[in-house]
Amino acid sequence: MIKIDYYEALGVERNADGTTIKKAYRKKAYEYHPDKNPDNPEAEEKFKEAAEAYEVLSDEEKRSLYDRFGHDGLKRSGFSGFQGFDDIFSSFGDIFEDFFGFGGGRQGGGTHAQKGANLRYDMEIEFLDAAHGMEKEVEVEKFVLCGACEGSRSAPGKDPVICLQCNGTGKVTRSQGFFAIAVACPVCHGEGVKITHPCKKCEGMGQVPEKKKLLIKTPGGVDTGSKLRLRGEGEPGRNGGPPGDLYVVLHVKESDVFKRYDYDVVVDVPVTFSQAALGVDLKIPSLDGEIDFTVPAGTQSEALHRISGEGIEKLNSYGRGDLIAHIIVKTPEKLTKEQEKLLRDLAEEDGSSVRPHQKGFFEKLTGK
Ligand SMILES: [Zn+2]
Ligand SMILES: [Zn+2]
Repeated sequence: MIKIDYYEALGVERNADGTTIKKAYRKKAYEYHPDKNPDNPEAEEKFKEAAEAYEVLSDEEKRSLYDRFGHDGLKRSGFSGFQGFDDIFSSFGDIFEDFFGFGGGRQGGGTHAQKGANLRYDMEIEFLDAAHGMEKEVEVEKFVLCGACEGSRSAPGKDPVICLQCNGTGKVTRSQGFFAIAVACPVCHGEGVKITHPCKKCEGMGQVPEKKKLLIKTPGGVDTGSKLRLRGEGEPGRNGGPPGDLYVVLHVKESDVFKRYDYDVVVDVPVTFSQAALGVDLKIPSLDGEIDFTVPAGTQSEALHRISGEGIEKLNSYGRGDLIAHIIVKTPEKLTKEQEKLLRDLAEEDGSSVRPHQKGFFEKLTGK
């Protein structure tokens, strides 16, 4: 059996980096996936080649062996390719997971119990809810086990019959050169059985869509990208397998008031020039409502004051981050005559030179 060049199998240059190789592999795997190409030995072969090429080229040591000594070099080091599709799937679980949806629900594979597919639910939450934690009831639409056939897919009293092609194993063996590959049975599509009288309620699917209310509880401190796992709330399993899980992926809304840095939050505190110079007692927003805060006399603009323990709750830990008051000294843009006079007096006292009085539009017009 002539083995294809691994770089050609993935359609990448010999100097391609890891990301390019991974991308190319995903593309090929998707194109030639057996679930998408039933009864197509050519696609199956391409799929296998791509998987094998990826295993070698994504592994620095194997790739270097292959680059230097070719297929022989790999063989001598003990790498013998894949024994069957199950190997391929178990080796590339991570890729299939993000490829075929969250958690990857692989179909087929005989009559053995299979865990249901995991589901993903994206949820937007308010900034303060993320900081403190919250409870919310949401409605998700998902497949549940059909009540009429209890997931068996057959109409009541009509048992499925064993597939004669594969004797109920769901797999047939195909030999290619010195490889013997177990592939999904083309007659029963890997089920091992044939449904002669499909259940009417679910049309032989074994599952029906249903809206379900779920209580989602988030701990304090979650952030965008945090995932919560709701065990058993994914799709139902097949052939009596356990259900998958539901992953809630959180997206935290931005706040108009607070900016988050890890577990610390920054709040802008605008003060006037005189407040900064003389000091002032203020109320400033915190995650728990307003709190008292003292701007000390002589505070500079952009000064940061850390208020310990008033930040966001630490996820899976104790304590909270800090609240950071970011002082912004605002320079007045328009002055009354009295204010201008006071400031000019101040400048004179400081000995700092300032520009002379600018005539306003009205003054210019009247000459006064
Ligand atoms: Zn049913
Ligand atoms: Zn079969």
